[in-house]
Parts: sequence; C-alpha cells; structure tokens
Amino acid sequence: MSQPADLVINARWVIPVEPANLTLEHHAVVIRGGKIMDLLPQELARTRYRADRSISLSDHVLIPGLVNLHAHSPMALMRGIADDLPLMRWLQEAIWPTEGKHVSNAFVREGTLLAIAEMLRGGITTCNEMYFHPAAAAEAFDLLGMRAVIGLTTLEFPTPYASDADDYLRKGLAARDAWKNHPLIGFALAPHAPYTVSDATFVRIAALAAELDIPIHTHIHETAQEVADSIAQFGKRPLARLAGLDLLGENFIGVHAVHLDDSDIELLQRHHCSIAHCPTSNMKLASGIAPLARLQAADILTGLGTDGAASNNRLDLFQEIRHASLLAKVSTLDATTLPAHAALRMATLNGARALGLGDRIGSIEAGKAADLCAIALDTFETRPCFNPASHLVHVAGREHVSHVWVAGEIRVDKGNAVLQLNDTELLGFAALWQTRLSN
Ligand SMILES: [Zn+2]
Repeated sequence: MSQPADLVINARWVIPVEPANLTLEHHAVVIRGGKIMDLLPQELARTRYRADRSISLSDHVLIPGLVNLHAHSPMALMRGIADDLPLMRWLQEAIWPTEGKHVSNAFVREGTLLAIAEMLRGGITTCNEMYFHPAAAAEAFDLLGMRAVIGLTTLEFPTPYASDADDYLRKGLAARDAWKNHPLIGFALAPHAPYTVSDATFVRIAALAAELDIPIHTHIHETAQEVADSIAQFGKRPLARLAGLDLLGENFIGVHAVHLDDSDIELLQRHHCSIAHCPTSNMKLASGIAPLARLQAADILTGLGTDGAASNNRLDLFQEIRHASLLAKVSTLDATTLPAHAALRMATLNGARALGLGDRIGSIEAGKAADLCAIALDTFETRPCFNPASHLVHVAGREHVSHVWVAGEIRVDKGNAVLQLNDTELLGFAALWQTRLSN
C-alpha cells in the first residue's frame, strides 16, 4: 500500500547537509503537511508514495533553505547611502542620523517586505532579524510567508522607536506577546552591542532570555576599536565583560567576532556560544577577517549572515558562502580550510542550530519542515558539473535559484517569486522611500 503525500520533488542531486558531506543522486523528497516525510531514491518513491503533485528538477541540486543568521532587513531601504566609511563613522555620520529622521512602522514593514522578496528569491528561507518595530517586521514575514527570528532590539539611547532600554524591552516584549504563537515567527533578545548597552540592561536581558527560553543576538568584537574602548572603559574585553554579567550561554549568538584572542575563544567554547560570521560586511567596513578556522577548531558553532543591506550591500547568502570559503583559505594560507560541504553547512544547519531550531530546519531529514531551495545547474557557466557542492560554493549564485519552499509552500517557482505582493507593489515601496530619503 502506498502512502498519500502532498508533493514529491524529484531532483538530479540532493545535498541533505545531515549526514555531512553527502550528495545523493536521483533522489526524491516527499512532503506532507508542510513537513518532509521521506528522502529516498526516486524509483522507491514512485512505489511507496502517491502524491497529489510531483515536480521534476532534472538539472538541479536540492538543498535545505538557507538560514541568514544576521540581518537588519529594513536597511534594504538605505542600500548604498553610505559606502567607503569605517563602522563608527558609518553609524554616526550616515546610518543613525537617517534612521533618526525616517524610521517608523511603515519604514520597517515596507523595508522588510523588500528584503524578504530579495532573500526568498536568493534561496534564504529563515532570517535572524535585528531592527526596530519588531511587530512591523512580524507583519511583513507573516504576509510573505518567510520564517524569521525577530530580535527585540535594545539600546540605551533614544530613537523615534523608543526612549530608553526599558522602553525598548517593553515594546519588544509586547510585540512578542502578540506574535509568539505564529508557526513561522520566533523571537530573540537583541541588545545592539556592548558599546551601546549598559551592564544593568545586559543583566536584565540575561534574566529575560532564561525566563523566556529564547536566544540572545548581539554584535560583538566587530572592530579593534570596540575591544580597545571596552578595556579603557570597563577594564575588560567585551566578551569577558558579558561573561561576567552571565550573558554567555548556549543561546548566545555573537555577530561578527572578528577580533578574538585566545581568551575570547576559550570563553565562547566554554559557554557553547554561537557566532554569526558576516564576511562581506566585515570586508566592506574594513573591520577585519574573523578567525573562522580557529573558531571551528574550537568546535564553536558558526553560521553565516549578510548583515544589513547598507553594509553589504546584498542580502545574498550565496555570496557569503563564497566569501567565507575564500577568506578562510587565504587568511590561513591553507586551501584545505572550509571545504564546500562545510561552507554549505554553515549557511544551513549551523544557523538553524544557533537559533535553537536545529530539530526543525537546516537539513533535509524526515520530520523537519519542508524549507527547501533548488538551484538549476543547466547553464553554460554551470556545465559540466562533476561536484554540485563545489558548484554551489564557487560557481552558482542566487541567480541560479529556481524553486524555494517554506514549510512546503512554494515561494519561488521557476525563478519567479510567488508572493502575496507582486513585483510592482514591492518596487512601489522602494520608489516611495527613495523619494523620502532623498529629501
Ligand atoms: Zn549587524
């Protein structure tokens, strides 16, 4: 007796990510109720399952949907407003003044909608988000059907969104209360950075994270100046300061982690912290190169993030995979560092595990959500293909993404977005904000 299924995807290659280093040929992924039921050879799938629909991806590689472990989605509206500046000048001269003038519910909602369309088209199915107005972000992720962990951003200083740390937390927690039961949306506490958040607020955030059992998502050790300033002000490196405030733990996601000494790596290892590596942003702001090989040698879980579109300027995880691989090799002068399958794992399962979602997404395994991405390898530049994992890291890009599913729902079909808003509506938001930001 064959079992009923909603959809069978027959793919030329499947890289399930778990087990590691595996590329399957002529396999099928069987989906029912938004979840993966089975992954098996195509001829077995034909006898064991009767599906309402089936799709043949005869020149494609199917991988888990990509997990963007660090983004500020609404900054899509500020793409290219300030290039060629180091982090603190970029923040103080360009980003913070623009945000002070323009950030609103509508800015966040419409900027996030644009970013979601870009990310889904590029194979990203989950985003770890950090910005203001978390309820407006939740509305956007809900409308376009993308999975997200939304940061409850906290700063000490006032912005148009909130007046002080208590106000940020109060508004953030209210947004979480309103959206916490949504099947695709989760939340994290997101203190912006050690240099913008006080000890007292960090202590409160550590307690809240434990009480609510959610991640803590924060920028750390992004620049050498940040580390030097912390030593001058607190007598400690930022990670040592956070450790002293009981902030480090399995639920801690540190973003960037560029400037790390042995004591920092020992702290991250001892507390089982995760790192969101953002290689393009680190290059563009000239922050430095995160010591990925040392982090991985210490078994510190490391995923990949795009950061915001004002410091990248693409929300393109294929670019991050490639940059991570190349930077890891050249910075160690060791070409064996970060092979293709390991780079793909960073962009999928590692990110999922860092978010506490490792049992639900990040690999193509029975029981997990059907968050999937197909890449067409049928073009001049992708043929011949001897090793699809190598092609995904070094040849293919987001322009080769052909199909994307989130929880079994199709979001990209033959390269075209299938969303609640059409391209004209989305481009209308971009035009509107271009006019407003230009005045
Ligand atoms: Zn960031």
